[in-house]
Parts: sequence; C-alpha cells; structure tokens
Amino acid sequence: MYYMKDGRYFYYPFIFVSPFVSGFDCTRDVFPDAKLIISDSGGYQLKAGTKTKADWDSVLQFQERIANIGLTLDIPPVTVKGNNHEYFDESIFNECMEKSVINAERMIEYKVNEKMKTFAVLQGRNYDFIDTWHRAITRNHDYDGFAIPILHIQKQDHVKQFCEQLEFVKSLDTDFHFLGNCTRLATLVFSRLANISKRQFTFDSSTAANALRYGTYYDPYFFIPISLSKYPSKRVNFKIDGRLPCDCPVCSNHTVRQLAYNPMLSMMHNIYIIQRFNEYSSVITKDDDEFRELLEIIVNLKHKKYFEEIVKGVLKVL
Ligand SMILES: [Zn+2]
Repeated sequence: MYYMKDGRYFYYPFIFVSPFVSGFDCTRDVFPDAKLIISDSGGYQLKAGTKTKADWDSVLQFQERIANIGLTLDIPPVTVKGNNHEYFDESIFNECMEKSVINAERMIEYKVNEKMKTFAVLQGRNYDFIDTWHRAITRNHDYDGFAIPILHIQKQDHVKQFCEQLEFVKSLDTDFHFLGNCTRLATLVFSRLANISKRQFTFDSSTAANALRYGTYYDPYFFIPISLSKYPSKRVNFKIDGRLPCDCPVCSNHTVRQLAYNPMLSMMHNIYIIQRFNEYSSVITKDDDEFRELLEIIVNLKHKKYFEEIVKGVLKVL
C-alpha cells in the first residue's frame, strides 16, 4: 500500500499512515487524492522501543481524522530486532493480550466517526495463540476486520508459525490487513489466499523506504537488495553509469547515478516493482500448478535451507 502525489511517473491512491511517522497533527488534507488510508496504532513502534508512550485515545482521534480503516492499539508480545520477531512466554502473552483487548474495546466504544472501519490487530505465535487472542478481543465487540503481522521466516521455528498464521486467516471469512511484510514469498501467499478464498487483502511494508535509509535498490527480477549509494552521505557505490535494464517509469528516465544520488527515485522504483509483482502474482496464483512452481522457485531462491518445510507447509494450507 502506498500513495504518491500525481506527476511523479506513477500514482497509487492508497496509503498506510502511522501517527508516529506522520506526527499526530497530520490531517487528511495532506493526502487530497487518497482513496483509501489505513492507519496503524504505533503498537509496533512501542515494542520496537523507538517510542515511549501511546494511548488509545490520541491514536483513535488521529485515525478518525485521517483514516478509512483504523487499526486497534495492540501491545505486541514480541521482541523485535530488525525483521526478526521473537515471542515471549505465555504469561507475557496473556498480559499483552489483555492490555490490547482493553485498548481495542475502548477504541470501538468511543469511536464517533461511523464511516471509519476498525480492524482489530491479532498477535500470536501459532494457530492456538492467535485463536485465543481473537476470542478475547471479540468477546464483547465485533470488528470490521482484522490485521496480523505476518512473520518474516528467518529460522526453522518460523516456518510452522508462518503457515499457522495463514491457516488462521484462511479460517475466518472476513477482511484482513497483513502488517509489515512484502517479500516475494509473502506477496505470493497473500495473492493465493485471496484467490482461493475469493477475498481481497491489503498489506503494507516499509521495505521500499530502505532506499532512503540505506540507498537500497531492489533488483526488478529477483528482489535482491543492491546498495546504489551510501545514504545519507550519498557516496555512490556504483562505478558504472548509464541506465539499468528495468522498464519501470523511474529507471526508464534516469541513469544509475541519478538514482544513487536521489534515493527518492530508488524508493519509487522499489514501490513500483513491489506493486508489479503483486499484480503478477495475483494472476499467476489462480492456477494451482503455476502457483506451486513459482512458490518452489521463490523458496529456493530465498529460503533454500527450509525448502521442504515451507513448500509442504504452505501447500497444505493453500
Ligand atoms: Zn525500475
């Protein structure tokens, strides 16, 4: 999900806004042409340790001004280092769950903007934990949908957790937003899930913005991160000039050097190829055999170590 103002090569009328990134004063006028704005709560930032405090009330007020869909303020029962999520034990899980349920209930009870949908954030390391969280958060209120942070597979334990998260989403016939993951594997399984369950899903990720943080350009074919420049010094790594063979509207109009000196251009290329792969996989995954083949290729490319487990686990669910 991303939004870019007109006149910048391409345009998507969707945006995911976090109050901690935009600032709590941000209003809808900043995005005049946006068709859909989803706003998270900042729960992730809380756990990631970059922010110290958030309360449901100020998050709700922010969301009601700006969003079509607001996500409840959750307290993630995980430690987060980079993309690596590690779950805490059961007692911390229960404590975080109860706090998150109270936040979610308040946000539903005090909501005045009836046009805004509310999605409850679900957490959990496996099907049973997510189910427990779901039962707790829906014991007094219904929600318009749910949001779930889908794991980035980085070790063996994550494979089972990833597959059980998918299984849970499949089991509920409702709207879902996937938080913080746009890898090729994630995009492929979201598309497959949408096709087999005849539903639509949304997902967000800050991966494209790695261009601004680290000068990262994702190659348009295999999504391999290439560092074009050392940002913020903008010292160009690439000795070669000329154009890269990417037919996106950004690379078609700029040299490597221009991309390297202006990370905003690399970010737009990144957004474009993430969205392009999303469109591609939503078509390909309609066919059982094509889906299986593409899944095997992507898993082999990125997760060779857990090839058997991932392919078997995902195909069991999807
Ligand atoms: Zn490009």
